[in-house]
Amino acid sequence: MEFVLLFIFFSYGLVFGSFFNVVGLRIPKGESIVKPPSHCTVCDRRLTIKDLVPVFSYVFLKGKCRGCGTKINWVYPVMELATGLLFAFAYLQLGFSLELIVALLFISLLVIITVSDIAYMLIPDKILLFFLIPLIVLRVLEPLDPWWDSIVGAVVGFGVLFLIAIVSKGGMGGGDIKLFFVIGLVLGWAPTLLTLFLASIIGTVIGIISLRRSKQSRKTPIPFGPSIAIAAIIAYFYGEMLVDWYVNLFF
Ligand SMILES: [Zn+2]
Repeated sequence: MEFVLLFIFFSYGLVFGSFFNVVGLRIPKGESIVKPPSHCTVCDRRLTIKDLVPVFSYVFLKGKCRGCGTKINWVYPVMELATGLLFAFAYLQLGFSLELIVALLFISLLVIITVSDIAYMLIPDKILLFFLIPLIVLRVLEPLDPWWDSIVGAVVGFGVLFLIAIVSKGGMGGGDIKLFFVIGLVLGWAPTLLTLFLASIIGTVIGIISLRRSKQSRKTPIPFGPSIAIAAIIAYFYGEMLVDWYVNLFF
């Protein structure tokens, strides 16, 4: 039974992940998420069911459009698979609970902003606001311990990132700052700082790898959103454990 439920959450995650790709690509451009139906952005070929099966289509089409042969970005099947795995993992960790809804919303938000930040270097306000409202309601119904940790977390998340933005003179985008407000609300202050710490490490590693890969595009800025997303998910599931471990090293 447990296995069946895990499979259901995984499948839902794949389908939602596929939808999140569409949302992340269209919302920043001000496009509708339902019209027009999915199509190849190069040859305009309308995608059929065969092209739209999450992950599998990418594998069977060998990562190319069936119309024009243009390579499909590997980011999209990775996002689908990641959403599937994270949905299943969230259910495994939390079971049927209010907190599971928090986790699913949080994962969804992070997947969408990863897609849009990679594609456009942008984390749209609309997306943040769409998720912020239900997350506030859920943190009232299912508060952190102590309950005010959400408020402190949001203020600390926003404040620290805002300071970094001032000191680094634009090294941090406005979207990143607002995203940390939402992260603080969901996680509380300590895991939020942990998120920032982990995101910096992940961002540095990604930066070094992409520098090595492309020598000429040295000046292209690297979106910070994906690093924040990975860090926030680690902090959500393991933050308390990691913070406790660290504090116990000293006290
Ligand atoms: Zn095409």
